[in-house]
Amino acid sequence: MKHSKIAIIGSGAVGSTIAYSLILNQLVSEIIMVDVDKKRCEGEILDLSDSIAFSKTSCIYQGDFKDAAQADIIIISAGRAQKLGQDRLELLQVNINIIKSIFEQLKPLNRNAIVIMVTNPLDLMTYYAAKFCDLPKSQIIGTGTFLDSLRLHVLLAQKLKVSANSINGYIIGEHGDSQVVAWSGVRVGTQLFSEFNINNGDLIDIEDAIKNQAYKIIECKGATYYGIAACVAKICQIIIFNEKEIIPLSIYNQEYDICFSLPVILSEQGIIEVIDLKLNDIEKNNLQKSINKLKSQII
Ligand code: NAD
Repeated sequence: MKHSKIAIIGSGAVGSTIAYSLILNQLVSEIIMVDVDKKRCEGEILDLSDSIAFSKTSCIYQGDFKDAAQADIIIISAGRAQKLGQDRLELLQVNINIIKSIFEQLKPLNRNAIVIMVTNPLDLMTYYAAKFCDLPKSQIIGTGTFLDSLRLHVLLAQKLKVSANSINGYIIGEHGDSQVVAWSGVRVGTQLFSEFNINNGDLIDIEDAIKNQAYKIIECKGATYYGIAACVAKICQIIIFNEKEIIPLSIYNQEYDICFSLPVILSEQGIIEVIDLKLNDIEKNNLQKSINKLKSQII
């Protein structure tokens, strides 16, 4: 295993659940956790340490930014979380300052590290990470619409009574309200989803359910963390085992000077290719609107 050291900056609900997913999935030998709240971080580590006896993870410890900067994968889940009724964008200024201060401290940085951004508003945080961090843009990725796309697979699987693994398709654009389901490319097995007799109202219901899932979870229990932690563990697995799987991630786009999600081939070196999706005119138009929205929010 090439990548054996993972740093998690921000050991709150999301960061510590990511650590738990990495441990249970036997993905990493060493986990370093960093948080400004050292006491909470200590508590999370003590709790997580009780689970490593079942895992190939040999150690999990509280480190500083200098330790974290030398990890093979650096996950950033530090920042203010969304509150009930709060749009992801309201977090923007607070979290920009946090991300900036983190990259100022992550020095000297392992030149081969892959940075995974999790903090919201996700695409903008990935954009600012790409600005504040001098690694190649292919090594800075955001979880983007990976989670949203998996929610799509699950909802379609329930509707069509097949396994979610049999659904292939992507949500692209913003990880947020302007996200776009690329319906024209969704497949069930080898069959195009558009060939199934599903009415437009049902498609809109599915789109709304995906967009509202996080708001609904936050309304019920205050935070979301299991789904995103499972996604981050899967992203780490793809990198660690150089799997070259195609998944949608938020990445820097030079043409628009912004980050948003598109399907990419992910490897141990980071992004090695962006997949050219064949979108219909409505999808192209909606993606453009999503990009415009993100661009208008750069401060
Ligand atoms: P949380 O409040 O439980 O944890 C955030 C942690 O960040 C805290 O422990 C805090 O002390 C720490 N922190 C703040 N500033 C820091 C700094 N400068 N350096 C190191 N640590 C610092 O919040 P959470 O529920 O874990 O959410 C974390 C982030 O993840 C939020 O922005 C949230 O919106 C985001 N999130 C993203 C997704 C996604 O799909 N990408 C899903 C869920 C949550």
